[in-house]
Amino acid sequence: MIRTRIAPSPTGFLHLGTARTALYSWAFARHHGGQFVLRIEDTDVARSTQDSVDQILAAMHWLGLDYDEGPVYQMQRLERYQQVAEQLLAAGLAYRCYCTPAELDAMREAQKARGDKTRYDGRWRPESGKTLPNVPTDVKPVIRFKNPLDGEVVWDDLVKGEIRIGNREIDDLILVRPDGVPTYNFAVVVDDWDMRISHVFRGDEHINNTPWQINLFQALGAPLPRYGHLPIILGDDGQKLSKRRGAVSVTAYEDAGYLPEAMLNYLARLGWSHGDDELFSREQMVSWFDGSHLSKSPAQWDPAKLAWVNAQHLKAADNTRLAGLVTPRLVQCGVSGVSTESLAQQCALVKDRCSTLEQMAEWISMFYVQPSISDEDRAQHLTESAQAACVALASALNDVEWTAPTIAAAMKSVLADRGMKMPQLAIPVRVKVCGRSQTPAIDQVLALFDKKIVLNRLQSA
Ligand code: GLU
Repeated sequence: MIRTRIAPSPTGFLHLGTARTALYSWAFARHHGGQFVLRIEDTDVARSTQDSVDQILAAMHWLGLDYDEGPVYQMQRLERYQQVAEQLLAAGLAYRCYCTPAELDAMREAQKARGDKTRYDGRWRPESGKTLPNVPTDVKPVIRFKNPLDGEVVWDDLVKGEIRIGNREIDDLILVRPDGVPTYNFAVVVDDWDMRISHVFRGDEHINNTPWQINLFQALGAPLPRYGHLPIILGDDGQKLSKRRGAVSVTAYEDAGYLPEAMLNYLARLGWSHGDDELFSREQMVSWFDGSHLSKSPAQWDPAKLAWVNAQHLKAADNTRLAGLVTPRLVQCGVSGVSTESLAQQCALVKDRCSTLEQMAEWISMFYVQPSISDEDRAQHLTESAQAACVALASALNDVEWTAPTIAAAMKSVLADRGMKMPQLAIPVRVKVCGRSQTPAIDQVLALFDKKIVLNRLQSA
């Protein structure tokens, strides 16, 4: 049974990098008919918040990354970690270490002064024939793992290929802190084991943690998951994608008017490919995502490409659905009570020109809110003759049935009367009615307006 998981730490929003990891884990499980688990890694008690959990759950829901189990909270599993730690202690695979923070600092300083790598020196590690220090009564111990001293940890990474790290490079990991809270590496292993996780996708900043985790799995006699470490996502400046360089939370993109399927499509391509396919649906991704074609090198976040992907998904989206999605955005511009049917027609008309729902709402608000006309448009397009033609159009439209063809016919008759060419009327009409000089076909645009509004705007100064 393929079982994957996403294990966010609830110390903020759902980061784009974590969302991509979640997407790959989810798609891999779905592709194989397996299961996907959500685990909340909240052992950093000082920084974990319920608000962050809520944001993560909302973002997962928005992206449509449904999970079969969870959310499982690590802080609700403390007893289990303690139990496994006791088991390791009893088997001689872990030991109590009574070093105080001050002693550890001194150890580190001395190592630095000698030019050595800083590491735990094993002073409480039991070895045959070794005398351990006297147990102090006033220090609460940590529990450390007795990491193998020799040999190598080798794994065949799903993304990076074979990775080898010598046991000499790593020291005796703390499993449980004095307050009984497990460290990340220990909790992850117990959880991945208990949750029967078969494949772990995560960021490559965890590569150095993996040897400890593999050693722990082996000490526990637990079956090893396969690991796939995904390269980081770079910002468009080539640096690590970070808050300082633009939005990095999934929610920010929801707010800015991206569609979840576009976000999935774009995130999927940041580190994975299926031939030359740039645009695909969630279902296609699931049918293609078998864990192959994952990129070893970092991908670069490209806002322009994301906007393009979103624009394509907007074009393909159902108009009634778009109407529902722009409604709350219109309410923010003070527009409410519009029928879904009218909105759907308006979405259909303008969606080719929009990259986001935000832009779509901005367009659609022109049907309801008097647009402001820029000085530039006024000077360039609203000449005296243009104004007069607009007023003439208003009277010509007064009695016509309100459809695109009849509006087009009225415009033609005004042009013929005045010996003008289409752009000489169409552009001023656009500026006066829509507040912009470029729109889709003007007869079709006007037909979706309330007639009275058009007549008023044409006649106003
Ligand atoms: N809580 C860890 C993180 O957010 C999870 C890493 C893992 O998947 O093992 O990076």
